[in-house]
Amino acid sequence: MNAPNHKKDECPKCGYAVDSATELHHEPVKPSAGDFSLCLSCGSLLRFDRELLLGHASADELDELDDAQRSEIRKAQRYILQRGPITK
Ligand SMILES: [Zn+2]
Repeated sequence: MNAPNHKKDECPKCGYAVDSATELHHEPVKPSAGDFSLCLSCGSLLRFDRELLLGHASADELDELDDAQRSEIRKAQRYILQRGPITK
């Protein structure tokens, strides 16, 4: 578990509590407005708003990223979906 590095929030889809973020290669990073995120429990594609709160993001929004970034996000999302939700 990482130290909290953003406001306590929850996934808008499943309610999973979130208060920390890492970049895809596990380096802790303080998120910025507009950054994408994935819910670690349900795999929902999320995005930080101006207040650094999490909201839904559409798959179309990933078009803003380059191919490598899109591919990494989809790979991580597939992993989360295959693993299943976090139950604790
Ligand atoms: Zn979720």
